[in-house]
Amino acid sequence: MAVQPNETPSDAQWTAIVDCDASHDGKYYYSVSTTRIFCRPSCKSRAPKREHVRVFKTAAEAAQAGFRPCKRCKPDGLRLPDEEWVDAIAESIRAHYPERITLDALAEQQHVSPYHLQRTFKRVRGQSPADYLLRVRIEAAKTLLRESAAAIAAVGGEVGMPNAAHFATAFQKAAGCTPTQYRLAHRAPNPSKDGDVHE
Ligand SMILES: [Zn+2]
Repeated sequence: MAVQPNETPSDAQWTAIVDCDASHDGKYYYSVSTTRIFCRPSCKSRAPKREHVRVFKTAAEAAQAGFRPCKRCKPDGLRLPDEEWVDAIAESIRAHYPERITLDALAEQQHVSPYHLQRTFKRVRGQSPADYLLRVRIEAAKTLLRESAAAIAAVGGEVGMPNAAHFATAFQKAAGCTPTQYRLAHRAPNPSKDGDVHE
């Protein structure tokens, strides 16, 4: 079979991918652009969108193109070290923290069970993905409080915590003071050109 690297799947390949057809295993591998993962055709992960799928003749070519081997189907026996895998998940959390992020959605993207993701992340990082996400959000909120004149509730919304009461409680727990206190204590001496701020 002549498969060019980075080729879109043929109808037969696409059907095999959707059906998790093991008879196609070894003939090619498919990558998913949104998750940067590549799989065997038989992988039991939920079918991606066809426009995000590319086909590679070998696992090595997929890896060379920057895709990571799937944790579930371990294409061609390639195994990603847990540390590297968790780093990639943490990076994805940092890139998407203003959005709604759930353990289930992260696990589905990574083709593993929520339990496996939670346990591995915690073992490598010493904290759960949810704790890590919260830390990233609180750090981003601190920056906004210091450097912008945005209202407290708006700051919460900007960092993915649109529930103002929840944001205030979580911030206080993590930072040891309220968002307003934090802003007063850390505000830059010269207010930004956004104008006067009335606390
Ligand atoms: Zn897979």
